[in-house]
Amino acid sequence: MSKSIDFYSLAQAGVRDLKPYVPGKPVSELQRELGLDHIVKLASNENPLGPSAKVKEAVIAALDEQSRYPDASGFELKDMLAEKHGVKPNQITLGNGSNDVLVLLAQAFLSPEHNSVFSQFAFAVYPIATKAVNAEARIADANPESHPQPLGHDLKAMAKLIDENTRLIFIANPNNPTGNWLGSDELEKFIANVPDTALVVVDEAYTEYVTNQDVPDSSKWLSKYPNLVVCKTFSKAYGLAGFRVGYCLSHPDVADLLNRIRPPFNVNSLALIAAQTALQDVDYLESSVELNESGKAYLSHELNELGLTVIPSATNFLLVDMGQEASGLNQQLLEAGVIVRPVGNYGLPNHLRVSIGLQDENEFFIQALTKILGK
Ligand SMILES: *Cc1c(COP(=O)(O)O)cnc(C)c1O
Repeated sequence: MSKSIDFYSLAQAGVRDLKPYVPGKPVSELQRELGLDHIVKLASNENPLGPSAKVKEAVIAALDEQSRYPDASGFELKDMLAEKHGVKPNQITLGNGSNDVLVLLAQAFLSPEHNSVFSQFAFAVYPIATKAVNAEARIADANPESHPQPLGHDLKAMAKLIDENTRLIFIANPNNPTGNWLGSDELEKFIANVPDTALVVVDEAYTEYVTNQDVPDSSKWLSKYPNLVVCKTFSKAYGLAGFRVGYCLSHPDVADLLNRIRPPFNVNSLALIAAQTALQDVDYLESSVELNESGKAYLSHELNELGLTVIPSATNFLLVDMGQEASGLNQQLLEAGVIVRPVGNYGLPNHLRVSIGLQDENEFFIQALTKILGK
């Protein structure tokens, strides 16, 4: 018998307190568990169209180069992104998904003396990134359910938590898992009032799906507010979640600091090619947004017909109040071959988060749910 070591007591306190991120269940896992042949996954806010045909072609054509290391600087991709956002390439940090960039920000700016501020029901990676560096996570109460943006960020409550030891403020706009948003004026007013000792990280993972004019692309404020950082990703509307590419736009000095700790090859060659190609495939992005809008209208309508409350969404998913503890319903949906996302780990035991899929996937989900609810 080998002796037993209490590794938990050796780990730093922040890590000890953490619960791991709970991803959407992969289709293959449900297949293994239940042996179903028709499975619909509406759990991870992925683009249901799959990657664009142009991306597939470009990636296949690049396979012969793969014995070489990637371009560590991501020169071409940064060049394209700089043009798209009207910034300089030295304001861009590429990441293995924007999750990677969020972690780099925490590593660069947080320490046990510092804190980050974010909202209750905000993206699950913010507490993980904060506690991984043993910093304090300050969580502001979210809007009440009666608010026009139910469970969304309460910027006044967030502002109250900021002090001289606050280094990062995470804002997801639109937010995951709630799907709702902050308007341009209120967000800019908040950013303008944040002290120079804190960076405001606006996480815009769903920005390409936004059709509501009042939801800002915060990158337009970068020249005005040097402590603003804007995170974006290719995982959602661009349909490249499996490739893992995201980035942030910031002041060049912030990018320089992040670059000091960034693993040199954190974005692989195929991901770089995929992202560069996706940026040029305007038609794919347009059809993705169109499909999302019609799917969202269909699902919202059908869910309302079932007597369920749906939170307004500017994203490619809906947060649905099931009116009861939702884990049982989730299990029944799994058995019917539908994977959605339970959000009990976010403190929302009665809600399910449903990504908008292809029309036949949406219908399959509604049929399964109708049957389960006995309607
Ligand atoms: C999906 C998501 C991300 C990014 O994921 P990556 O795949 O790591 O780019 C970031 N923020 C929010 C709010 C998300 O929902």
